[in-house]
Amino acid sequence: MTCNGCAGANDVAIRMRIGGEEIVFRRCSKCEVNQWEAGTGEISLDEVLELARSSR
Ligand SMILES: [Zn+2]
Repeated sequence: MTCNGCAGANDVAIRMRIGGEEIVFRRCSKCEVNQWEAGTGEISLDEVLELARSSR
């Protein structure tokens, strides 16, 4: 896995399930880019929050 921000391989991936969606949270330890990915591709934090809201 490489970071989109610095192209380094320093990112940490955390897999979780939010609102029935499989979400991967990535954080680069070098440039501190935070990134969210759903099955469909990259999503914004707003979309993650929306999923979390609609799951309740
Ligand atoms: Zn980076």
